[in-house]
Amino acid sequence: NTFAEIDLGDALNINIKRCKYVKPTPVQRHAIPISLTGRDLMACAQTGSGKTAAFCFPIISGIMKSGQSAQRQPRMPRMAFPLALILSPTRELSIQIHEEARKFSYQTCVKVVVAYGGAPINQQLRELERGVDILVATPGRLVDLLERARVSLQNIRYLALDEADRMLDMGFEPQIRRIVQQMDMPPPGVRQTLLFSATFPKEIQRLAADFLSNYIFLAV
Ligand code: AMP
Repeated sequence: NTFAEIDLGDALNINIKRCKYVKPTPVQRHAIPISLTGRDLMACAQTGSGKTAAFCFPIISGIMKSGQSAQRQPRMPRMAFPLALILSPTRELSIQIHEEARKFSYQTCVKVVVAYGGAPINQQLRELERGVDILVATPGRLVDLLERARVSLQNIRYLALDEADRMLDMGFEPQIRRIVQQMDMPPPGVRQTLLFSATFPKEIQRLAADFLSNYIFLAV
């Protein structure tokens, strides 16, 4: 019933304390231990449920444990190779997730970068060039970055889809499918997918069937 009981690692636990999170919310209490086992997850979560931490904590913890962060990788000019991708429907939500993820990864080797549409791309390109472990992005801007060959998804180990129902309502399904297709190149079976949605219409179930394997469904 406390974060310390979950095996997230010391650095993350210090940052959780810094954020003044005392105990996990229901979605966190269930989603984080499941995610730490490596299983795919489809979780029902409303805004305000603490879902951002529910998918950020296992990703940050996993990257730190793997010792694979961008700071330890040789840098390729003009091409970023994130280990984790968090897709979100809007610029506002992406900014919010980025801010939270940065607090959670404060003073760790994990680097978080955000890219969203409706803003100049140059600043985002410069950030990406400095190295990125976790990329928070809106689907349209990410497709743009992929077309410009400024981001490669070949190292993605964690994919989180936040507010998946809203992304589909906004018409992002073709972009999302294109993005995920780029991850299905080698090596297969190493990616963990976490799908968060407030509602579960047929379209979301179809997305889950296509993107997740042997997943756990969590409704809290
Ligand atoms: P979210 O649903 O992820 O947008 O989170 C809603 C708000 O709850 C955000 O301001 C979080 O910082 C906060 N929050 C998330 N998890 C916890 C927690 N375990 N304890 C206290 N506040 C939290």
